[in-house]
Amino acid sequence: MSNNNSLPRYGNFINNNWQDAVSGEVLTLKNPSDGSDLALIARGTQSDIDLAVASARKALSGEWGKMTATERGRVLHRMSEAVLKKIDLLAELEAKDVGKPITQARADVVALARYLEFYGASADKVHGDTLPYQNGFTVLSVYEPLGVTGHIIPWNYPMQIIGRSLGAALAMGNAAVVKPAEEACLTILEFGRIAQEAGLPAGALNIVTGLGLEAGAALSGHAGINHISFTGSLRTGEAVQAAAAKHAVPVTLELGGKSPQIVFADADLERALPFLVNAGIQNAGQTCSASSRILVQRAVYETVVAQMAERYRALKVGSALSDPSVGPVVSDRQKAIVDGFIELAQKDGLTIAAQGQMADGTPENGAYVLPTLVRDVPADHPLAQQEIFGPVQVIMPFDTEEEAIALANGTDFGLVCGIWTNDGARQLRMAHAVQSGQVFINNYGAGGGVELPFGGVKRSGHGREKGFEALYGFASLKTISLYHG
Ligand code: NAD
Repeated sequence: MSNNNSLPRYGNFINNNWQDAVSGEVLTLKNPSDGSDLALIARGTQSDIDLAVASARKALSGEWGKMTATERGRVLHRMSEAVLKKIDLLAELEAKDVGKPITQARADVVALARYLEFYGASADKVHGDTLPYQNGFTVLSVYEPLGVTGHIIPWNYPMQIIGRSLGAALAMGNAAVVKPAEEACLTILEFGRIAQEAGLPAGALNIVTGLGLEAGAALSGHAGINHISFTGSLRTGEAVQAAAAKHAVPVTLELGGKSPQIVFADADLERALPFLVNAGIQNAGQTCSASSRILVQRAVYETVVAQMAERYRALKVGSALSDPSVGPVVSDRQKAIVDGFIELAQKDGLTIAAQGQMADGTPENGAYVLPTLVRDVPADHPLAQQEIFGPVQVIMPFDTEEEAIALANGTDFGLVCGIWTNDGARQLRMAHAVQSGQVFINNYGAGGGVELPFGGVKRSGHGREKGFEALYGFASLKTISLYHG
């Protein structure tokens, strides 16, 4: 990092070296809390990705590739501890870069450290099998690293997503090339420095910043990678999968959602209420597993609307470092998208049940959106169908269990679902009936649970990250058949 025009300037991190983009060009990151310039990052392109992929390939036959699984685990543990030591720096950077309230940013640092701890401990516990076969044979299956893994990361949870994706890839012995988002990536760059200081060998982790259409497209279409893990929007995920298909490179897609929470009349409403609201407004609603649809059985519908509305009216929107209930969204562009949905609701005559309010002293140039609860939204309306990615929730009534299932499954997505009922048989009937990668009964885990496999069905993606399951996704299973007579 060096200073230029008084802004911090970050290069790409390749082979444990910091270097400017081959083109010499830079991009400017903004602080969404006040619109000010925050830092300069390298505008990486194909040439930088080529260097990073070559560096990763070299690492596989060098110090990194020669490490035992136990040694890899120890390096990840050291990285975990080093991350926690830098919690103040990382949390402040994430708050400024993403606009995330500082308490949530601190929680993300802890989550990053926890991913590294979890995957460090799992590195030497991935074992294969012996398989029954014909007499005279012994057959083994062993898990091997895939090779060079590409990781394309969005801006909403840079630290959490690099933790879950890179942690598992490194634990399995892969060498990685990471392309963070051009809107927010400073903590990922700082993480490169932390990893190096903690002893991660050169080339095991390479970071190239830049635009999606340049650095991102170069990585996803690169012939030298063996796997790509993409987290981001549906549209970009489709482009990444198509690019990777040209070289038959396997892809994990972690895409968007329109995740419902379904509240039955017998639910413990007092317990449910904080989850109903928080899962929609956490990180200003910019969470893939945000609960953006609240489906409520008619007998308690008006009660839940009234109680959620009361909580919405108490929400304060402010700058990330003032630690408000809701910070800005990541950019003016994102603000325009979210405001557009609220305007559409008004234009179509939908009823806004409640909105939050701006905190006193909030800077004028920030990308702020008022948290908004919209009621009685028709199931086919864009607000009930499309991922808004802002602090906007819709609330809709239903009568029967069948109707709840139809509503819950009635979008293109299937990432997370919350079910609130005290009827045990219904809990399991519903859990089986909903099309969703994760189901939470009488709780809701937007982003929580390092140990819990995570991923979508339908247009929310395919493949699983998090938990032990992710390790298999970053591995290749080899079958060894030995004839000994
Ligand atoms: P995005 O798709 O615009 O960008 C994601 C990443 O892809 C960025 O690094 C971007 O530079 C890169 N990119 C853009 N165009 C590309 C291209 N043509 N080729 C290769 N890479 C390209 O997504 P976003 O707006 O940054 O993130 C928000 C989306 O991410 C939401 O849809 C959200 O639901 C999703 N998300 C999903 C999860 C999950 O785990 N399922 C987690 C977080 C976010």
